[in-house]
Order: sequence, then C-alpha cells, then structure tokens
Amino acid sequence: MAGVFHLLERLARQRDQGRAVTADQAARLGAALWPRAAELDQAVAALADPCLALGMLRRVLVEGFRGNPGNRRPRDRDDPRLARDLLDFLRLFGRIRRDLPAYVDLPPEGVAAASLHGDGDWCDLCGQCCVLGGTVPTSPAGVDYPAYWYHAIAGQSLYPQPFCPFLFQTNDAPLFFCSIHAIKPLACARFDRADCRRGAPFRGPAEH
Ligand code: SF4
Repeated sequence: MAGVFHLLERLARQRDQGRAVTADQAARLGAALWPRAAELDQAVAALADPCLALGMLRRVLVEGFRGNPGNRRPRDRDDPRLARDLLDFLRLFGRIRRDLPAYVDLPPEGVAAASLHGDGDWCDLCGQCCVLGGTVPTSPAGVDYPAYWYHAIAGQSLYPQPFCPFLFQTNDAPLFFCSIHAIKPLACARFDRADCRRGAPFRGPAEH
C-alpha cells in the first residue's frame, strides 16, 4: 500500500524536475491514505496545486528536517497519524490558497523560479527560515489578515506544524517563497541577510 513517504517522494521528485502533478496521479497515490471521498478530494486539490511546497513536505515529513530545533513532530513513522497530519496541512493550504487572491496576485500556473529575486538577491529561496513552529503574526500597518491567518502564522492551527503554511514552492524547481511576501508579518519582514547568515552561514550567495 502506498504510504505518505511514497506519495511525497514520488510527487516531490516530479516537481523537482519541473513537471506538474496531475489530479489523477494524486488521487491514485492518495486513495489508500484518505478513503473518504471528501477528504481525498481536498488532498488531491492541494497536491496538484503548482504552489504546494511538496519538496519541503518531503524534506520535513520524510527526511526529518527540523530547521528550528523547537520545531517538533513525530518522524520516521509512515502511519495513519502521519496521513492525518498531512491532510490537515493540505486542507489549511487549500483554504489559504482560496483566500489569497483577495490579498496577493498569484498566476494559476504557479510561479517560476526565475521570476523571483529573493529579497534583492541575497536570499537563495532555500525556505529553511520558514521551517518553524510559528511566529509572531503581527501584520504590517494597513493590512488585516483573515482571522485564521493569525492563528496559522502563529503555529496554532497545526500540531505539530511542519513549516509555515504560507511557504509555497516555485513551479519549476525545489525553491521556495513566501506567498504573502508583500504583506508578510513584521517579524518575517525584519528577518534579513544577517539573520540568515547567523542561522545558516553556508546558505545564500556570498556577500560582496
Ligand atoms: S509568513 Fe512568509 S516569511 Fe513568514 S514564516 Fe510564513 S512563509 Fe516564511
């Protein structure tokens, strides 16, 4: 029986290569994990979305990457609990995706890596800084998020949260971006090149 590990490895590898995941593929791999039709439909819609951070789901849920040491989650057990956790993540992602157009313009085909300029080119879009259990959700002046976004950003919607559900993946490479970059929380906007270097000195292009 195909488990979560198999599903994520298979679909993330495909996305790594810039190939879209189809709803049929997602349904075939997910049918045994989510036998209820409504649950499978929700999972499939998210898994076939060109913005879903499949590569990061594989990295965290299959390979055990933690990022922030405070980011806890059971690992290495491909069991029904993991399938439920993944479904919760996919549902939240789907909800965010539906509400995002009121705040951010994202093309339906997703975002190509070449169109992003990681914060003036110092960020290499590794996504590691967003692998956290939650952060302070204060929005920038003049922006009011939907109520559930505050909880989601704070890490109060998923336990354990594999990474911030606003972290999306480009449609042609295992590179990641903040889906609400222009209106991201103040705590995230303050995170700069020096913070990145402190957290992971080997990441990002060399300073000039
Ligand atoms: S809101 Fe954006 S920048 Fe902040 S943790 Fe989430 S994905 Fe990262």
